[in-house]
Amino acid sequence: MGIVVVGTVAYDSIETPFGKVEETLGGSALYFTVAASFFTRVGIVAVIGEDFDLGKISFLKDRNVSFDGLYVEKGKTFRWKGYYSYNLNEAHTLDTQLNVLENFDPILPEEFTRKDLLFLANIDPELQLKVLDQMKNVKFSAADTMNFWIDSKKEKVMEVFSRVNAVTINEGEIRELTEEYNLVKAARKILDIGPEHVIIKRGEYGVLVFEKSGEVFFVPAYPLEKVFDPTGAGDTFAGGFMGFLDSQGEIKRNLRKAVIYGSVLASYNVEKFSFLKLLEISRQDIDERYREFLNFCRVE
Ligand code: AMP
Repeated sequence: MGIVVVGTVAYDSIETPFGKVEETLGGSALYFTVAASFFTRVGIVAVIGEDFDLGKISFLKDRNVSFDGLYVEKGKTFRWKGYYSYNLNEAHTLDTQLNVLENFDPILPEEFTRKDLLFLANIDPELQLKVLDQMKNVKFSAADTMNFWIDSKKEKVMEVFSRVNAVTINEGEIRELTEEYNLVKAARKILDIGPEHVIIKRGEYGVLVFEKSGEVFFVPAYPLEKVFDPTGAGDTFAGGFMGFLDSQGEIKRNLRKAVIYGSVLASYNVEKFSFLKLLEISRQDIDERYREFLNFCRVE
């Protein structure tokens, strides 16, 4: 049991129509880990600079998170600056500073290489491949990316996707990656290169899952009255999804439930800046909202 995640740990500066924050905690691996740690043990593989305040994430150690693969290097932590207009489904990047990420060589602790589940969160696809190559016996793997890497390393992104069981990607990015507007055709193009599941994240319109078998599964987003900051919703979704799968053991039978758990976690995350909301909720809150989700489409 246990998940390995590789991705970014970041200082984010974000502006939404409802507020602004400078240098708040973020990064794909961090959002994923906070969400997944509700369900299972997580080994985080990432790099931070000497400027990172580790004290701010030490609470994760009490949640069964291993920092043995978290490297501190000379230089500055990865930084991302973005904004959202009233279309909260689309993040606009203003600035990306790779900093210590530029020379990161992720060597996995021996214990991590034997974990069952692997999530390749949004990071340089060459680093995703390096981590994938070190894993000895993965039962289920999934990967994500974003336009920054599609623009600069498209072939590597495709190589990563061809080697995992599931791809999680947002709708704008799969259209860009496949050069296909129609999501059914876009998903088919990715399914054709390898993965069994393509999970398309559509912000307030929910999640569409396309299976190699031809099945389609759709989960709406939780109808929230207040969406404050969508940053990290995708990574939080993945954390809930993979975390729940790992806690259940059997993958196939639990995949749809896991998509709903991912949606539950993402719905909480957007209610506040950074992952602050996730620190206020309990496993019981998560299960209650899961039951609400089940009712959304139930017909007597
Ligand atoms: P999401 O909103 O789930 O797509 O992910 C948001 C997180 O992705 C932010 O916390 C950023 O720090 C991180 N991020 C932004 N750009 C990149 C990038 N090029 N590579 C990896 N992570 C990034």
